[in-house]
Amino acid sequence: MKRMTKTLRRPDELAEAGLIPPGRLAALKPVAARYAVAITPAMAELIDPADPHDPIARQFVPDPAELEMRPEERADPIGDAAHSPVEGLVHRFPDRVLLKLVHVCAVYCRFCFRREMIGPGKPNALSAEALSAALAYIAARPDIWEVILSGGDPLVLSPRRLAAVMRRLRGIPHVKVIRVHTRVPTVDPARITPALARALKLRGKAVYVVLHANHARELTAAARAGCARLIDAGIPMLSQSVLLAGVNDDVETLGALMRALVECRVKPYYLHQMDPARGTAHFRATMARGQELMRELRGRYSGLCQPAYVLDRPEDGKVPVGSNDLADIGS
Ligand code: SF4
Repeated sequence: MKRMTKTLRRPDELAEAGLIPPGRLAALKPVAARYAVAITPAMAELIDPADPHDPIARQFVPDPAELEMRPEERADPIGDAAHSPVEGLVHRFPDRVLLKLVHVCAVYCRFCFRREMIGPGKPNALSAEALSAALAYIAARPDIWEVILSGGDPLVLSPRRLAAVMRRLRGIPHVKVIRVHTRVPTVDPARITPALARALKLRGKAVYVVLHANHARELTAAARAGCARLIDAGIPMLSQSVLLAGVNDDVETLGALMRALVECRVKPYYLHQMDPARGTAHFRATMARGQELMRELRGRYSGLCQPAYVLDRPEDGKVPVGSNDLADIGS
């Protein structure tokens, strides 16, 4: 495949790049009209177009199955909206809030639980007024110990804009921890520059970057170097992955992912049971399968490679579902 230079956003660009056969164009146009598409050069180059089961393509190339909705699927599967006191903020638990700085991402995952709220055409970033209102809300509540920057993907912002937000967070004494949720270190590693690492580092606060990665192949040499830039700058990294049928729902693939993360000094944190977002049934592995995988993972891989397997429920947030065997007790 020839070297790519720009993010692919339309089905005809995917066909031109050889990622879909031209015969699929008509079926994919309505999918792309409903749910945003973006595949960065780093991810497009990883896809093997000759492999109909390529796990990278499966995560980012749209599929007509996305227009098949199931009755149990919801527009807001984890119930963010019910816990949003001011624009851009989700306050579900007393000690932490989610601050959604942007509604865009570097790539659009076909299984995204916020797929109805993100993408071009949705408001791009919080306005200056909305950001000030969100920060004022946090500043007025001493119980808020941790702020999670999310979106969209906050690392699509420039280092200058990120640094400005971080400086304002530094001014809130009771906020001790800032967590940044992102896919950028793998899907667009060139954005992880020393300037970005400097923007994230905040004297007096603990800053963690949580990388979303679902397959070991995403940890390319460039991605590993990007993670190293953050970690060497003093920013610890954790990971979150989603259990995805046809991407990582076998123990070898899942184990290889966890090992690749640990090798990059990224501690596996969460393995998510997929949220019932609309049009994502073709990605869903059963919870029984997930628990079986967790048992197999524990039997064969180092303790460092064990994430917590969790289910996100609108009523009470993340619930550990573990491996459903006696060894879970007290673990
Ligand atoms: S990067 Fe995260 S928020 Fe963005 S599309 Fe993927 S899962 Fe959704």
